[in-house]
Amino acid sequence: MSKNPVIDQIVDTYRPIWALNHAASLFEWDLETYMPVDAAKSRGFAQGQLALIQQQKVLNLTENASKAEKLDGLNDYEKGIIRKIKRALKYYTKVPPELVEKLTRTTTEASVVWREARKRSDFSLFEPYLEKIVQLKRKEADKLGYEAHPYNALMDLFEEDLTTRDVDKVFSPLVTALKKILSRIESSKSFRSNHKLEDVAYGEEAMKRVNQEVLRILGMPDKTFRMDVSTHPFTSSMSLDDVRITTRYEGKSFRETIFSVIHECGHALYDLQIDHSLEYTPLGDGPSLGIHESQSRFWENFVGRSREFTNLLYPTLKKNLPFVSEYSEGEIYKYFNLVRPTLIRVAADEVTYNFHIVVRYEVEKKLIGGEAKVSEIPEIWDDMMEDYVGVRPQNLAEGVLQDVHWSGGMIGYFPTYSLGNVIAGMVSNRMKRDLNVQDLIARGDISPIKLWLRENIHKWGAIYSPRELQKKALGDVYNPEYLVKYLEEKYLT
Ligand code: MG
Repeated sequence: MSKNPVIDQIVDTYRPIWALNHAASLFEWDLETYMPVDAAKSRGFAQGQLALIQQQKVLNLTENASKAEKLDGLNDYEKGIIRKIKRALKYYTKVPPELVEKLTRTTTEASVVWREARKRSDFSLFEPYLEKIVQLKRKEADKLGYEAHPYNALMDLFEEDLTTRDVDKVFSPLVTALKKILSRIESSKSFRSNHKLEDVAYGEEAMKRVNQEVLRILGMPDKTFRMDVSTHPFTSSMSLDDVRITTRYEGKSFRETIFSVIHECGHALYDLQIDHSLEYTPLGDGPSLGIHESQSRFWENFVGRSREFTNLLYPTLKKNLPFVSEYSEGEIYKYFNLVRPTLIRVAADEVTYNFHIVVRYEVEKKLIGGEAKVSEIPEIWDDMMEDYVGVRPQNLAEGVLQDVHWSGGMIGYFPTYSLGNVIAGMVSNRMKRDLNVQDLIARGDISPIKLWLRENIHKWGAIYSPRELQKKALGDVYNPEYLVKYLEEKYLT
């Protein structure tokens, strides 16, 4: 893919860095799934040490990177390599080793503390850790440098070049449009009221069989993919041939685990369909979290929550969950698509979901900008939930403690979820030109959809920046109009 000796050298030097990332992602996966809790300290120590080796290895690329910058006539692959290496170099040149180590160690330790705090709904357990993490993240932002707001430096780590101005440009028309849609749904009542199935308990074994059928429908491979259980569902890619997801079984309201599986499969399919020539290079990943999330949200909502998918799944549901027989397929479709203000982000419907993100975005900006103290966050959270979403949490597990992100130091991550929804709207719109998606789902023929995504988005890995890839594959950049149009068509007609 490259005939240039400088680029070749960079790719060679990158291999051990890839191996360190590989090891770190296995560590993280294990931390969230099977690791005994008291191992958090030693795991944090090990992760911190690995991060230091990683920093040193990246810094070794400095000379070749500046040579590479002067090269002319490079192809897209070569330009992509340089773009990614420059980003890694910027980070590790500006953030000193003590901070790299401390951030990694603290966030590893904090994740088990958060889990316990969430279980007991007790903010005071997590508070000292969050205090430390916010302090470290502020320092990180200062070291990285930023214009206008320190939060910009943190968002850039997840979504290249994204600023609060870009986010506001997406969020403000989106929120206005969603509020209108929500109020029209509320007055029509058809997708609104609570549903009995939300309280019906299920057996975990039966539910696991349903999820296996979901994996079968989506055509998930069995030799390069696996599924486990964790507190917070996630996808972890160790390599292009080792992609793992998790789900959780909460014991009632069976749709939650199904949609988390479909969601994470969307992430997994992305990684599994990246061109294998990019393996062991800095390009063997999606270009940003917003792009990645667009894939999970596309599968979860545009495919999974469609009428056709409900039809596909209905026989399996009836077979494994006897209580489903009391409900028609149309009722199940409604249960999958209820729209009204709720407390938990990951279980939120397509319309109100983005309000949850706005709350987190505003809270994080206050924390990082120094406008709010950590101790004030639970109350600010509850007030904002009431303002934006329209419900007030009754306990902290359903409020400020519900998400894993802050314990892992992932501040600046949340906005990419809404960008993912927006981009998923763009994907669906563009795909319609080439495929009759609803018809394919109705027939259970998912492979043309996967192929389309592979050819237009997945196979490129991180060769293009998030903006370049959107322009190239979707003909637009972070434009919320398509999502709004889709929601209007689905819920208002
Ligand atoms: Mg996701």
